Amino acid sequence: MPRQKQTKGKCAYCGKEFAKTGMARHLKACLARQQVLAEEKGTKDTLFHVQVQGKYRPEYWMHLEMPASITLEKFDAFLRGIWLECCGHLSMFKIHETRYEVLVDPTFDYWGEKPKTMKHKLSKVFYPGLKADYQYDFGSTTPLDVIVIDQREGVPNKAQPIYILSRNDPPDIPCENCGQHQAMRIYTWHDYTALCDECGDASAYDDEGWLPVVNSPRVGECGYTGDDAVDDLF
Ligand SMILES: [Zn+2]
Ligand SMILES: [Zn+2]
Ligand SMILES: [Zn+2]
Repeated sequence: MPRQKQTKGKCAYCGKEFAKTGMARHLKACLARQQVLAEEKGTKDTLFHVQVQGKYRPEYWMHLEMPASITLEKFDAFLRGIWLECCGHLSMFKIHETRYEVLVDPTFDYWGEKPKTMKHKLSKVFYPGLKADYQYDFGSTTPLDVIVIDQREGVPNKAQPIYILSRNDPPDIPCENCGQHQAMRIYTWHDYTALCDECGDASAYDDEGWLPVVNSPRVGECGYTGDDAVDDLF
């Protein structure tokens, strides 16, 4: 499936569009954002600015801000909800050489260092400049880069404690048959053909091998069909 490598996204505060790296710079300078931050009320926490992206699909990215007091487990649940969850696969963060997993079996004879649990708070493991790895599903894996860009003292967003500062617009994936329209489905059971609704045979879409084109680095993997609600996370 042909892919576009660079995508833009909108700033949540002023609506201006930038590519991923430009957005990191913009978020520090955005006047609309500075105004909102100046008027924050409530209990302060350390907040991390974290960039996440598909390791091999970097056109899928998010800039996020999250309290240092949440656990890796909450961050994992957020990533699953918005980008990853298909059938409850295992996942892990790898920070330096240490793995942090949801389920750590105390009786299991792990190869190498025994993993730690995701009950650790971000304040214990994150710091500006950190580049960490994340993986969802150890079979058809979706690997992510997790980059801690910055931190500040501020008030977490009440409605969305993990706040989406910006997220990539869906990349252009043209239909491989007509080249005219956006592809809507991918056939994942052999050749990953991506077709628009005009060129695809609607009845054939009942076949489980067809997956919808969704705005996620897990597009076309396993049975992934799009985001779940993340409202009840906190
Ligand atoms: Zn802005
Ligand atoms: Zn799955
Ligand atoms: Zn087409």
